[in-house]
Amino acid sequence: MPKSLLQPFLAACALLISVSVMAQTVTDVPLSDADVKIKSAAQNAAQNAAQSAASEAAKKLPTAEEIAAERARLERMRAALAAERAALEQYKADLVRRQQEAAAAEAKAKADAAAKAAVEKAAAEKAVGSAGSVPPPAKDDPVSAKTLSPEELQRQRQLAIERAKAIEKAIATQKAADAKKKAAAASTPQTTSPKDKDVATMKLRRTTQNKVRYVHLRDVAVNYGLTFAYTKNKANKVSGAVIYDKTRKAVFSATYRDGIVNGVQVYFLYPMLIKNSEPYISEVDFLTCLDPLLRYKTPVKLGMKTIMIDAGHGGSDPGAINGAHKEKVYTLQIAKRLQTQLEKLGFRVIMTRTGDTYPTLQERAALCKKYKPDLFISIHCNSSTNKTPAGIETYRAVPVGGTETKGSKVKTEKQSANEFDANNSRLAYEIQKGMLAATKGTDRGTRHQAIYVTGNATCPAVLVEVGYLSNEAEVKKIASPEYQNKIVSGILAGLAGYGSFLR
Ligand SMILES: [Zn+2]
Repeated sequence: MPKSLLQPFLAACALLISVSVMAQTVTDVPLSDADVKIKSAAQNAAQNAAQSAASEAAKKLPTAEEIAAERARLERMRAALAAERAALEQYKADLVRRQQEAAAAEAKAKADAAAKAAVEKAAAEKAVGSAGSVPPPAKDDPVSAKTLSPEELQRQRQLAIERAKAIEKAIATQKAADAKKKAAAASTPQTTSPKDKDVATMKLRRTTQNKVRYVHLRDVAVNYGLTFAYTKNKANKVSGAVIYDKTRKAVFSATYRDGIVNGVQVYFLYPMLIKNSEPYISEVDFLTCLDPLLRYKTPVKLGMKTIMIDAGHGGSDPGAINGAHKEKVYTLQIAKRLQTQLEKLGFRVIMTRTGDTYPTLQERAALCKKYKPDLFISIHCNSSTNKTPAGIETYRAVPVGGTETKGSKVKTEKQSANEFDANNSRLAYEIQKGMLAATKGTDRGTRHQAIYVTGNATCPAVLVEVGYLSNEAEVKKIASPEYQNKIVSGILAGLAGYGSFLR
Protein backbone atom coordinates (compact mmCIF):
# COMPACT_ATOMS: atom_id res chain seq x y z
CA MET A 1 0.00 0.00 0.00
CA PRO A 2 1.40 3.43 -0.78
CA LYS A 3 2.26 5.79 2.09
CA SER A 4 -0.27 8.36 1.04
CA LEU A 5 -3.07 5.85 1.72
CA LEU A 6 -1.51 4.38 4.90
CA GLN A 7 -1.78 7.52 7.05
CA PRO A 8 -5.57 8.05 6.90
CA PHE A 9 -6.06 4.31 7.18
CA LEU A 10 -3.97 4.16 10.44
CA ALA A 11 -5.73 7.23 11.78
CA ALA A 12 -9.08 5.61 11.30
CA CYS A 13 -7.91 2.44 13.03
CA ALA A 14 -6.51 4.37 16.06
CA LEU A 15 -9.75 6.20 16.50
CA LEU A 16 -11.69 2.94 16.49
CA ILE A 17 -9.32 1.41 19.06
CA SER A 18 -9.45 4.40 21.38
CA VAL A 19 -13.22 4.45 21.24
CA SER A 20 -13.33 0.73 22.00
CA VAL A 21 -10.94 1.11 24.97
CA MET A 22 -12.95 4.00 26.28
CA ALA A 23 -16.15 2.03 25.99
CA GLN A 24 -14.61 -0.98 27.73
CA THR A 25 -13.48 1.17 30.48
CA VAL A 26 -16.88 2.60 30.86
CA THR A 27 -18.35 -0.86 31.02
CA ASP A 28 -16.50 -1.45 34.22
CA VAL A 29 -18.90 0.83 35.98
CA PRO A 30 -22.63 0.75 35.60
CA LEU A 31 -23.58 3.13 32.82
CA SER A 32 -26.35 5.50 33.06
CA ASP A 33 -28.79 5.95 30.13
CA ALA A 34 -26.82 9.06 29.21
CA ASP A 35 -23.60 7.14 29.27
CA VAL A 36 -25.10 4.49 26.95
CA LYS A 37 -26.26 7.20 24.57
CA ILE A 38 -22.79 8.78 24.62
CA LYS A 39 -21.10 5.39 24.06
CA SER A 40 -23.36 4.55 21.15
CA ALA A 41 -22.86 7.92 19.61
CA ALA A 42 -19.11 7.64 19.95
CA GLN A 43 -19.13 4.20 18.33
CA ASN A 44 -21.29 5.38 15.48
CA ALA A 45 -19.05 8.39 14.96
CA ALA A 46 -15.95 6.24 14.90
CA GLN A 47 -17.50 3.80 12.47
CA ASN A 48 -18.71 6.60 10.23
CA ALA A 49 -15.32 8.25 10.24
CA ALA A 50 -13.55 5.03 9.32
CA GLN A 51 -16.04 4.20 6.61
CA SER A 52 -15.90 7.72 5.25
CA ALA A 53 -12.10 7.71 5.10
CA ALA A 54 -12.01 4.35 3.33
CA SER A 55 -14.72 5.40 0.95
CA GLU A 56 -12.90 8.64 0.12
CA ALA A 57 -9.66 6.84 -0.50
CA ALA A 58 -11.40 4.31 -2.69
CA LYS A 59 -13.06 7.08 -4.65
CA LYS A 60 -9.91 9.14 -5.41
CA LEU A 61 -7.19 6.47 -5.85
CA PRO A 62 -6.96 3.24 -7.89
CA THR A 63 -6.63 0.09 -5.99
CA ALA A 64 -3.49 -2.00 -6.05
CA GLU A 65 -5.37 -4.56 -8.08
CA GLU A 66 -6.35 -1.88 -10.45
CA ILE A 67 -2.79 -0.67 -10.74
CA ALA A 68 -1.55 -4.19 -11.20
CA ALA A 69 -4.22 -4.82 -13.78
CA GLU A 70 -3.30 -1.64 -15.58
CA ARG A 71 0.35 -2.51 -15.43
CA ALA A 72 -0.45 -5.93 -16.79
CA ARG A 73 -2.56 -4.40 -19.54
CA LEU A 74 0.29 -2.11 -20.49
CA GLU A 75 2.66 -5.03 -20.47
CA ARG A 76 0.33 -6.96 -22.76
CA MET A 77 0.07 -4.00 -25.07
CA ARG A 78 3.83 -3.62 -25.11
CA ALA A 79 4.16 -7.29 -25.86
CA ALA A 80 1.55 -7.04 -28.58
CA LEU A 81 3.35 -4.09 -30.16
CA ALA A 82 6.62 -5.93 -30.01
CA ALA A 83 4.96 -8.95 -31.56
CA GLU A 84 3.48 -6.80 -34.30
CA ARG A 85 6.85 -5.18 -34.93
CA ALA A 86 8.44 -8.57 -35.12
CA ALA A 87 5.74 -9.82 -37.46
CA LEU A 88 6.27 -6.80 -39.72
CA GLU A 89 9.99 -7.42 -39.74
CA GLN A 90 9.31 -11.03 -40.58
CA TYR A 91 6.91 -10.01 -43.34
CA LYS A 92 9.51 -7.67 -44.78
CA ALA A 93 12.13 -10.34 -44.67
CA ASP A 94 9.77 -12.84 -46.27
CA LEU A 95 8.93 -10.37 -49.05
CA VAL A 96 12.59 -9.76 -49.84
CA ARG A 97 13.21 -13.48 -49.78
CA ARG A 98 10.28 -14.18 -52.11
CA GLN A 99 11.44 -11.49 -54.53
CA GLN A 100 14.92 -12.91 -54.54
CA GLU A 101 13.54 -16.37 -55.12
CA ALA A 102 11.37 -15.16 -58.02
CA ALA A 103 14.32 -13.37 -59.66
CA ALA A 104 16.44 -16.43 -59.26
CA ALA A 105 13.71 -18.63 -60.76
CA GLU A 106 13.34 -16.30 -63.74
CA ALA A 107 17.08 -16.19 -64.34
CA LYS A 108 17.17 -19.94 -64.19
CA ALA A 109 14.29 -20.27 -66.66
CA LYS A 110 16.09 -17.94 -69.08
CA ALA A 111 19.28 -19.80 -68.73
CA ASP A 112 17.45 -23.09 -69.30
CA ALA A 113 15.74 -21.73 -72.44
CA ALA A 114 19.01 -20.38 -73.82
CA ALA A 115 20.68 -23.66 -73.17
CA LYS A 116 17.83 -25.53 -74.87
CA ALA A 117 17.93 -23.21 -77.90
CA ALA A 118 21.67 -23.61 -78.17
CA VAL A 119 21.27 -27.36 -78.13
CA GLU A 120 18.53 -27.24 -80.79
CA LYS A 121 20.55 -24.86 -82.99
CA ALA A 122 23.54 -27.07 -82.74
CA ALA A 123 21.38 -30.05 -83.67
CA ALA A 124 19.84 -28.15 -86.61
CA GLU A 125 23.24 -27.04 -87.87
CA LYS A 126 24.43 -30.53 -87.60
CA ALA A 127 21.41 -31.73 -89.61
CA VAL A 128 21.95 -29.05 -92.30
CA GLY A 129 25.61 -29.85 -92.45
CA SER A 130 24.93 -33.51 -92.98
CA ALA A 131 22.24 -32.74 -95.60
CA GLY A 132 24.48 -30.35 -97.55
CA SER A 133 26.57 -31.18 -100.56
CA VAL A 134 29.72 -31.25 -98.50
CA PRO A 135 29.38 -33.77 -95.65
CA PRO A 136 31.31 -33.10 -92.46
CA PRO A 137 34.43 -35.20 -92.04
CA ALA A 138 33.79 -38.61 -90.51
CA LYS A 139 34.98 -39.26 -86.96
CA ASP A 140 37.56 -41.69 -88.16
CA ASP A 141 38.55 -39.37 -91.00
CA PRO A 142 42.26 -38.82 -90.68
CA VAL A 143 41.72 -35.23 -91.83
CA SER A 144 39.30 -34.35 -89.04
CA ALA A 145 38.88 -30.81 -87.83
CA LYS A 146 41.20 -31.38 -84.93
CA THR A 147 44.00 -32.61 -87.08
CA LEU A 148 43.58 -30.10 -89.97
CA SER A 149 46.60 -27.99 -90.68
CA PRO A 150 46.19 -24.21 -90.53
CA GLU A 151 46.72 -24.11 -94.32
CA GLU A 152 43.97 -26.67 -94.92
CA LEU A 153 41.61 -24.81 -92.58
CA GLN A 154 42.32 -21.58 -94.43
CA ARG A 155 41.74 -23.29 -97.78
CA GLN A 156 38.41 -24.75 -96.63
CA ARG A 157 37.32 -21.40 -95.24
CA GLN A 158 38.17 -19.76 -98.56
CA LEU A 159 36.17 -22.41 -100.44
CA ALA A 160 33.19 -21.81 -98.17
CA ILE A 161 33.40 -18.05 -98.77
CA GLU A 162 33.59 -18.53 -102.54
CA ARG A 163 30.65 -20.91 -102.47
CA ALA A 164 28.59 -18.36 -100.49
CA LYS A 165 29.55 -15.63 -102.95
CA ALA A 166 28.56 -17.79 -105.91
CA ILE A 167 25.18 -18.47 -104.34
CA GLU A 168 24.64 -14.77 -103.64
CA LYS A 169 25.59 -13.92 -107.21
CA ALA A 170 23.18 -16.52 -108.58
CA ILE A 171 20.38 -15.13 -106.43
CA ALA A 172 21.16 -11.57 -107.54
CA THR A 173 21.22 -12.62 -111.19
CA GLN A 174 17.92 -14.40 -110.82
CA LYS A 175 16.41 -11.35 -109.10
CA ALA A 176 17.64 -9.03 -111.85
CA ALA A 177 16.25 -11.34 -114.51
CA ASP A 178 12.89 -11.46 -112.74
CA ALA A 179 12.81 -7.67 -112.41
CA LYS A 180 13.68 -7.25 -116.10
CA LYS A 181 10.99 -9.74 -117.09
CA LYS A 182 8.45 -7.93 -114.92
CA ALA A 183 9.39 -4.52 -116.37
CA ALA A 184 9.20 -5.87 -119.90
CA ALA A 185 5.78 -7.38 -119.23
CA ALA A 186 4.59 -4.07 -117.79
CA SER A 187 5.84 -1.98 -120.71
CA THR A 188 4.71 -4.31 -123.48
CA PRO A 189 1.41 -3.15 -124.94
CA GLN A 190 -1.33 -5.72 -124.66
CA THR A 191 -1.59 -6.21 -128.39
CA THR A 192 -2.98 -9.72 -128.20
CA SER A 193 -5.49 -9.22 -125.42
CA PRO A 194 -8.48 -11.54 -125.68
CA LYS A 195 -10.71 -8.68 -124.60
CA ASP A 196 -11.32 -7.61 -128.21
CA LYS A 197 -14.91 -8.25 -129.19
CA ASP A 198 -16.29 -8.62 -132.68
CA VAL A 199 -18.07 -5.35 -133.45
CA ALA A 200 -20.91 -7.30 -135.09
CA THR A 201 -21.73 -9.07 -131.83
CA MET A 202 -21.86 -5.91 -129.73
CA LYS A 203 -25.24 -4.86 -128.37
CA LEU A 204 -25.45 -1.11 -128.89
CA ARG A 205 -28.43 1.19 -128.62
CA ARG A 206 -28.76 3.29 -131.75
CA THR A 207 -30.47 6.43 -132.88
CA THR A 208 -30.63 8.55 -136.04
CA GLN A 209 -30.32 12.30 -136.27
CA ASN A 210 -30.25 14.28 -139.53
CA LYS A 211 -29.84 11.02 -141.47
CA VAL A 212 -26.71 10.16 -139.51
CA ARG A 213 -26.76 6.93 -137.49
CA TYR A 214 -25.39 7.04 -133.96
CA VAL A 215 -24.47 4.50 -131.31
CA HIS A 216 -24.88 4.94 -127.59
CA LEU A 217 -21.50 5.83 -126.08
CA ARG A 218 -22.23 4.17 -122.74
CA ASP A 219 -22.86 0.91 -124.57
CA VAL A 220 -19.63 1.33 -126.49
CA ALA A 221 -17.76 1.70 -123.19
CA VAL A 222 -19.41 -1.42 -121.76
CA ASN A 223 -18.45 -3.50 -124.79
CA TYR A 224 -14.79 -2.53 -124.49
CA GLY A 225 -14.69 -2.94 -120.73
CA LEU A 226 -14.21 0.80 -120.32
CA THR A 227 -15.50 3.21 -117.71
CA PHE A 228 -17.83 5.93 -118.93
CA ALA A 229 -17.96 9.46 -117.57
CA TYR A 230 -19.33 12.76 -118.89
CA THR A 231 -18.92 16.46 -118.24
CA LYS A 232 -21.62 19.14 -118.15
CA ASN A 233 -21.43 22.77 -119.17
CA LYS A 234 -22.67 25.81 -117.27
CA ALA A 235 -26.17 25.23 -118.60
CA ASN A 236 -26.02 21.79 -116.96
CA LYS A 237 -26.05 20.04 -120.33
CA VAL A 238 -23.72 17.17 -121.29
CA SER A 239 -20.80 18.78 -123.12
CA GLY A 240 -18.17 16.07 -123.14
CA ALA A 241 -17.60 12.41 -122.39
CA VAL A 242 -14.70 10.11 -121.71
CA ILE A 243 -14.36 6.33 -121.85
CA TYR A 244 -11.27 4.81 -120.30
CA ASP A 245 -9.42 2.09 -118.49
CA LYS A 246 -5.80 1.76 -117.35
CA THR A 247 -4.32 1.77 -120.87
CA ARG A 248 -6.95 3.36 -123.10
CA LYS A 249 -8.73 6.67 -122.99
CA ALA A 250 -10.93 8.45 -125.50
CA VAL A 251 -12.37 11.92 -124.98
CA PHE A 252 -15.31 13.30 -126.97
CA SER A 253 -16.87 16.73 -127.38
CA ALA A 254 -20.49 17.55 -128.04
CA THR A 255 -19.45 20.74 -129.82
CA TYR A 256 -16.29 19.92 -131.79
CA ARG A 257 -15.18 17.00 -133.91
CA ASP A 258 -11.75 16.79 -132.40
CA GLY A 259 -11.32 14.34 -129.59
CA ILE A 260 -8.32 12.90 -127.80
CA VAL A 261 -7.41 9.22 -127.92
CA ASN A 262 -4.59 8.06 -125.65
CA GLY A 263 -3.15 11.56 -125.62
CA VAL A 264 -3.25 12.10 -129.39
CA GLN A 265 -5.64 14.58 -130.98
CA VAL A 266 -8.00 12.65 -133.20
CA TYR A 267 -10.55 14.36 -135.42
CA PHE A 268 -13.80 12.47 -135.57
CA LEU A 269 -16.20 12.87 -138.46
CA TYR A 270 -18.99 14.26 -136.28
CA PRO A 271 -19.27 15.83 -132.87
CA MET A 272 -20.95 13.77 -130.18
CA LEU A 273 -24.75 13.82 -130.29
CA ILE A 274 -26.62 14.45 -127.04
CA LYS A 275 -30.10 12.99 -127.08
CA ASN A 276 -32.24 12.85 -123.95
CA SER A 277 -29.13 13.87 -122.02
CA GLU A 278 -27.33 10.74 -123.28
CA PRO A 279 -24.20 10.94 -125.47
CA TYR A 280 -23.95 9.14 -128.79
CA ILE A 281 -21.17 8.98 -131.38
CA SER A 282 -21.76 8.51 -135.10
CA GLU A 283 -21.71 4.91 -136.24
CA VAL A 284 -19.18 5.70 -138.96
CA ASP A 285 -16.89 7.24 -136.34
CA PHE A 286 -17.36 4.22 -134.13
CA LEU A 287 -16.56 1.70 -136.87
CA THR A 288 -13.86 3.48 -138.87
CA CYS A 289 -12.18 5.70 -136.30
CA LEU A 290 -12.74 4.72 -132.68
CA ASP A 291 -12.91 0.92 -132.71
CA PRO A 292 -9.54 0.56 -134.50
CA LEU A 293 -7.96 2.73 -131.80
CA LEU A 294 -9.53 0.90 -128.86
CA ARG A 295 -9.03 -2.68 -129.95
CA TYR A 296 -5.76 -4.46 -129.40
CA LYS A 297 -5.64 -6.34 -132.67
CA THR A 298 -6.85 -5.70 -136.17
CA PRO A 299 -9.75 -7.83 -137.28
CA VAL A 300 -8.38 -7.69 -140.87
CA LYS A 301 -5.28 -9.69 -141.81
CA LEU A 302 -2.90 -7.39 -143.60
CA GLY A 303 0.81 -7.54 -144.27
CA MET A 304 3.50 -4.91 -143.84
CA LYS A 305 6.39 -5.89 -146.05
CA THR A 306 6.34 -3.49 -148.97
CA ILE A 307 6.02 0.22 -148.32
CA MET A 308 5.47 2.91 -150.94
CA ILE A 309 6.91 6.31 -150.07
CA ASP A 310 5.50 9.32 -151.88
CA ALA A 311 7.60 12.51 -151.74
CA GLY A 312 5.09 15.31 -152.27
CA HIS A 313 5.25 17.62 -155.27
CA GLY A 314 8.49 17.78 -157.32
CA GLY A 315 9.74 19.12 -160.63
CA SER A 316 7.45 21.84 -161.86
CA ASP A 317 5.43 21.69 -158.64
CA PRO A 318 7.52 23.14 -155.79
CA GLY A 319 4.69 22.85 -153.30
CA ALA A 320 4.79 25.42 -150.52
CA ILE A 321 7.50 28.06 -150.68
CA ASN A 322 8.99 30.27 -147.97
CA GLY A 323 11.87 32.26 -149.46
CA ALA A 324 14.47 29.75 -150.49
CA HIS A 325 12.64 26.93 -148.78
CA LYS A 326 10.70 24.70 -151.13
CA GLU A 327 8.43 21.92 -149.96
CA LYS A 328 9.41 19.57 -152.83
CA VAL A 329 13.04 19.58 -151.63
CA TYR A 330 12.34 18.66 -148.05
CA THR A 331 9.70 16.05 -148.86
CA LEU A 332 12.21 14.23 -151.05
CA GLN A 333 14.97 14.52 -148.44
CA ILE A 334 12.74 13.05 -145.75
CA ALA A 335 11.43 10.37 -148.15
CA LYS A 336 14.95 9.25 -148.92
CA ARG A 337 15.94 9.14 -145.25
CA LEU A 338 12.88 7.04 -144.53
CA GLN A 339 13.68 4.75 -147.46
CA THR A 340 17.21 4.16 -146.13
CA GLN A 341 15.98 3.29 -142.65
CA LEU A 342 13.17 1.04 -143.85
CA GLU A 343 15.49 -0.86 -146.17
CA LYS A 344 17.94 -1.29 -143.26
CA LEU A 345 15.07 -2.85 -141.34
CA GLY A 346 14.38 -5.25 -144.20
CA PHE A 347 11.35 -3.58 -145.76
CA ARG A 348 10.91 -3.43 -149.50
CA VAL A 349 10.53 0.23 -150.41
CA ILE A 350 9.04 1.71 -153.58
CA MET A 351 9.43 5.45 -154.22
CA THR A 352 6.93 7.41 -156.32
CA ARG A 353 9.83 9.69 -157.24
CA THR A 354 13.56 9.66 -156.49
CA GLY A 355 14.54 12.98 -158.08
CA ASP A 356 13.16 16.42 -158.80
CA THR A 357 10.39 15.16 -161.01
CA TYR A 358 6.64 15.56 -160.92
CA PRO A 359 4.58 12.45 -161.26
CA THR A 360 0.95 13.51 -161.42
CA LEU A 361 -1.36 12.49 -158.59
CA GLN A 362 -3.01 10.00 -160.95
CA GLU A 363 0.40 8.53 -161.83
CA ARG A 364 1.26 8.12 -158.16
CA ALA A 365 -2.04 6.37 -157.48
CA ALA A 366 -1.40 4.18 -160.50
CA LEU A 367 2.01 3.20 -159.10
CA CYS A 368 0.29 2.14 -155.90
CA LYS A 369 -2.24 0.07 -157.82
CA LYS A 370 0.55 -1.47 -159.89
CA TYR A 371 3.01 -2.43 -157.17
CA LYS A 372 0.43 -3.29 -154.54
CA PRO A 373 2.42 -2.15 -151.50
CA ASP A 374 1.19 -3.01 -148.02
CA LEU A 375 1.33 0.61 -146.97
CA PHE A 376 1.40 3.98 -148.69
CA ILE A 377 2.99 7.00 -146.99
CA SER A 378 2.88 10.44 -148.60
CA ILE A 379 5.20 13.12 -147.21
CA HIS A 380 4.33 16.84 -147.27
CA CYS A 381 5.02 20.13 -145.54
CA ASN A 382 2.21 22.42 -144.43
CA SER A 383 1.73 26.10 -145.24
CA SER A 384 -0.54 28.93 -144.26
CA THR A 385 -0.96 32.59 -145.19
CA ASN A 386 -0.82 33.13 -141.43
CA LYS A 387 2.75 32.64 -140.17
CA THR A 388 1.63 31.53 -136.71
CA PRO A 389 0.45 27.91 -137.22
CA ALA A 390 3.01 25.21 -136.45
CA GLY A 391 2.86 21.51 -135.79
CA ILE A 392 2.23 18.09 -137.21
CA GLU A 393 -0.82 16.55 -138.88
CA THR A 394 -1.58 13.14 -140.34
CA TYR A 395 -4.34 12.63 -142.90
CA ARG A 396 -6.32 9.63 -143.95
CA ALA A 397 -9.07 9.19 -146.54
CA VAL A 398 -12.57 10.33 -145.60
CA PRO A 399 -14.78 7.32 -144.85
CA VAL A 400 -18.06 7.12 -146.76
CA GLY A 401 -20.76 8.85 -144.71
CA GLY A 402 -18.18 11.09 -143.12
CA THR A 403 -17.03 14.64 -143.74
CA GLU A 404 -13.69 16.33 -144.30
CA THR A 405 -12.15 17.85 -141.19
CA LYS A 406 -12.33 21.22 -142.93
CA GLY A 407 -15.86 20.97 -144.27
CA SER A 408 -19.30 19.55 -143.75
CA LYS A 409 -20.12 17.90 -147.07
CA VAL A 410 -20.85 14.23 -146.51
CA LYS A 411 -18.83 11.84 -148.66
CA THR A 412 -21.07 9.46 -150.57
CA GLU A 413 -18.81 7.77 -153.12
CA LYS A 414 -16.61 4.95 -152.03
CA GLN A 415 -12.92 5.00 -152.98
CA SER A 416 -10.39 2.17 -153.00
CA ALA A 417 -8.90 3.46 -149.74
CA ASN A 418 -12.26 3.00 -147.98
CA GLU A 419 -11.59 -0.73 -147.91
CA PHE A 420 -9.04 0.15 -145.26
CA ASP A 421 -10.82 2.82 -143.22
CA ALA A 422 -10.18 1.04 -139.92
CA ASN A 423 -6.52 0.39 -140.64
CA ASN A 424 -6.12 3.93 -141.99
CA SER A 425 -7.34 5.19 -138.62
CA ARG A 426 -4.89 3.12 -136.64
CA LEU A 427 -2.01 3.83 -139.03
CA ALA A 428 -2.62 7.59 -138.90
CA TYR A 429 -2.88 7.52 -135.11
CA GLU A 430 0.31 5.49 -134.66
CA ILE A 431 2.37 7.62 -137.03
CA GLN A 432 1.07 10.86 -135.58
CA LYS A 433 1.86 9.60 -132.10
CA GLY A 434 5.35 8.50 -133.20
CA MET A 435 6.20 11.82 -134.86
CA LEU A 436 4.98 13.81 -131.85
CA ALA A 437 7.05 11.74 -129.48
CA ALA A 438 10.16 12.04 -131.64
CA THR A 439 9.96 15.78 -132.36
CA LYS A 440 8.04 17.09 -129.32
CA GLY A 441 6.13 19.08 -131.95
CA THR A 442 2.65 20.56 -131.72
CA ASP A 443 -0.15 18.04 -132.12
CA ARG A 444 -2.57 19.18 -134.81
CA GLY A 445 -4.27 15.83 -134.91
CA THR A 446 -5.21 13.03 -137.25
CA ARG A 447 -7.55 14.39 -139.88
CA HIS A 448 -9.69 13.51 -142.86
CA GLN A 449 -9.36 15.14 -146.25
CA ALA A 450 -10.24 14.32 -149.83
CA ILE A 451 -6.64 13.85 -150.96
CA TYR A 452 -6.20 12.05 -154.24
CA VAL A 453 -3.34 9.71 -153.38
CA THR A 454 -4.68 8.56 -150.02
CA GLY A 455 -8.26 8.22 -151.30
CA ASN A 456 -7.18 6.15 -154.29
CA ALA A 457 -4.60 3.99 -152.55
CA THR A 458 -5.04 0.26 -152.78
CA CYS A 459 -3.70 -0.28 -149.27
CA PRO A 460 -3.79 1.50 -145.92
CA ALA A 461 -2.47 4.99 -146.63
CA VAL A 462 -1.65 8.20 -144.83
CA LEU A 463 -0.33 11.63 -145.72
CA VAL A 464 1.90 13.34 -143.16
CA GLU A 465 2.37 17.08 -142.84
CA VAL A 466 5.68 17.23 -140.98
CA GLY A 467 5.49 20.93 -140.14
CA TYR A 468 4.69 24.43 -141.39
CA LEU A 469 6.98 25.86 -144.00
CA SER A 470 5.26 29.22 -143.45
CA ASN A 471 6.34 29.28 -139.80
CA GLU A 472 9.82 30.83 -139.51
CA ALA A 473 10.91 28.69 -136.58
CA GLU A 474 9.52 25.49 -137.99
CA VAL A 475 10.88 25.90 -141.50
CA LYS A 476 14.41 26.03 -140.08
CA LYS A 477 13.75 22.77 -138.30
CA ILE A 478 12.27 21.14 -141.38
CA ALA A 479 15.37 22.10 -143.36
CA SER A 480 17.68 20.48 -140.78
CA PRO A 481 18.88 16.86 -141.01
CA GLU A 482 18.29 16.50 -137.25
CA TYR A 483 14.58 17.28 -137.51
CA GLN A 484 14.21 15.22 -140.66
CA ASN A 485 15.77 12.26 -138.87
CA LYS A 486 13.41 12.78 -135.95
CA ILE A 487 10.46 12.72 -138.32
CA VAL A 488 11.81 9.51 -139.84
CA SER A 489 12.32 7.83 -136.46
CA GLY A 490 8.82 8.96 -135.47
CA ILE A 491 7.33 7.36 -138.59
CA LEU A 492 9.31 4.17 -137.87
CA ALA A 493 7.98 4.12 -134.29
CA GLY A 494 4.48 4.57 -135.71
CA LEU A 495 5.01 1.67 -138.10
CA ALA A 496 6.18 -0.47 -135.19
CA GLY A 497 3.00 0.41 -133.30
CA TYR A 498 0.89 -0.35 -136.33
CA GLY A 499 2.81 -3.60 -136.81
CA SER A 500 1.90 -4.78 -133.31
CA PHE A 501 -1.73 -3.99 -134.16
CA LEU A 502 -1.46 -6.27 -137.20
CA ARG A 503 0.04 -9.24 -135.34
ZN1 LIG B 1 2.15 19.45 -150.02
